[in-house]
Amino acid sequence: MQDILRQKAQRKLVGGYLFYCPDTLTLDEILLVCAKQILCDGGGDDNCPTCQKIQCGSHPDVCVYPKGDAFSTDDSQGVILDAKKKEIMGEYKIIMIKNLENSSEQSQNKLLKVLESPPKNTIFLISTTNLNKVLSTVKSRLLKVDIPPFDEDALTQIFSDYQSQQDFSLAMDYSNGYIGETKQILLDQDFMTNYNLAKNIVTKLKSSSQIVDYIVPKMTKSQFLGTVGLMQNMYRDIALVKSKNSNLVKNKTLIGVFESISDEFSMKAIVEIIKRINDVNKKQYSNVTLSLLFESLLTSILEVKYLCA
Ligand SMILES: [Zn+2]
Repeated sequence: MQDILRQKAQRKLVGGYLFYCPDTLTLDEILLVCAKQILCDGGGDDNCPTCQKIQCGSHPDVCVYPKGDAFSTDDSQGVILDAKKKEIMGEYKIIMIKNLENSSEQSQNKLLKVLESPPKNTIFLISTTNLNKVLSTVKSRLLKVDIPPFDEDALTQIFSDYQSQQDFSLAMDYSNGYIGETKQILLDQDFMTNYNLAKNIVTKLKSSSQIVDYIVPKMTKSQFLGTVGLMQNMYRDIALVKSKNSNLVKNKTLIGVFESISDEFSMKAIVEIIKRINDVNKKQYSNVTLSLLFESLLTSILEVKYLCA
């Protein structure tokens, strides 16, 4: 991002950038930030009318594609026409194309024509979550920019409106540094439900008579995968606590709880439990009823916990 500001100052902006990371919402945010940096006289940090217009999608020199779900040949045609128009407010015109991975080869080939001879002062800001789905001829016309995950400070700033501190630290533990995942954890009720279920199983399940308390009737695939994935992370964390590697623990929010229960599990038991969760994860793609599979997993975890004690 700093590069774009520098290139702008040196009047060396290139005609097209291809931004890549696995998270769509992160990319959307990056495109907005770049457009502001290029068009705003204050470097995009202020809340000037230019930045506000870009933010709400009403800036006349910023064209956003795709118009529908995926970038289409009609969109390519639109880009060609937009590229010919003269800029109205500022020095540059920006054409944003989001999620180019969803477009056909045909649309990309059509887009290539305008990328090969980009009109003066037109800058393409293109994003993709999958570089393999972007034609190599298109890639070769663009400057590729890998977007690394955000650190905690940056995410704290992005989500400064968010109030609940506890959920926020949890989101930091599990989001992998991307906006989309953070948002999902903060706003998606399912995540918290799965999280609490996983936490209770890992920290409280001690006898087979308790299993019934943790069974979810008609468990959906996303509930199953979400809960089992979180459980696996927690068992891994307990193994890290046991091996005195607490600094590597993912779920820092629960580190105290993991420390207090780590003696309940032998290292051998944890390794075996993680292995069994892996096995179950493979199975769920067949037609097994997920609630039953989940129940048998819990039974098997208890068996291992006491057999390998
Ligand atoms: Zn501004």
